[in-house]
Amino acid sequence: MESDLATGEERLEAALYVVATPIGNRAELSPRARRILYAADLIACEDTRHTRRLFGEESPGGQLVACHEHNESEIAPRLAKAVREGSVVALVSDAGMPAVSDPGFRVVRHLRAEGLPVRVVSGPCAFVNALAGSGLPSDGFLFLGFLPPKRAARIRALELYREFDYTLIFYESTHRIEKFLAEIVETLGPERVISVARELTKRHEQQITGTAEAVAKTLAAGSRKGEFVVLIAKNGFSL
Ligand code: SAM
Repeated sequence: MESDLATGEERLEAALYVVATPIGNRAELSPRARRILYAADLIACEDTRHTRRLFGEESPGGQLVACHEHNESEIAPRLAKAVREGSVVALVSDAGMPAVSDPGFRVVRHLRAEGLPVRVVSGPCAFVNALAGSGLPSDGFLFLGFLPPKRAARIRALELYREFDYTLIFYESTHRIEKFLAEIVETLGPERVISVARELTKRHEQQITGTAEAVAKTLAAGSRKGEFVVLIAKNGFSL
């Protein structure tokens, strides 16, 4: 890949480009991501209708192919073949960085196993925003994505990391956020410092940092709509 630092122009070589897309604010699609999406011969995406919206009134130059958790392994050889034959292939998810709590890992593994080039196009990722904006220690952290849905498994996970020395990061949906905060209070205690980020980069963006009990109360008093990132500070951390 050659690029001109002054103009950002880049001669695209045949490769798999893992492209981060906005997690809410559409202005966060980077110029480089846009250029690669327009130039791609193939765009592998979770939901073709959703991804088409990134192009607004315009049309993508290449073909959109569905690549989601149920067909990722089957689609990977097709994407690898396209790269081998000289195509520019983009991989996106519905939001944020592909392969981070989203499809993508199996495709990347397949291309790497075949010795084919993989490039990542930097951009939005919800947990990075939440960590940077939390006020919790960020020198080390463990990102655990979504915990399993069953209560017993979730409590077990919290117990396992109770004494972990770095910040823990989780993704959570609107349906389970209240329960999850109650589980944190119950398992780690009401004084444990946490941060909850909601609707990042969107109009109603909110991030609350405080004791688990106080954060749960504040959240219960307001809107619980949207998508959430939950961070837990190491035991003993105080604001
Ligand atoms: N690949 C994405 C990334 O890079 O962050 C994550 C996709 S995962 C399927 C979706 C989860 O990410 C949501 O349930 C929520 O926990 C988190 N998330 C995504 N967008 C968010 C936002 N705007 N605000 C807060 N959390 C968000």
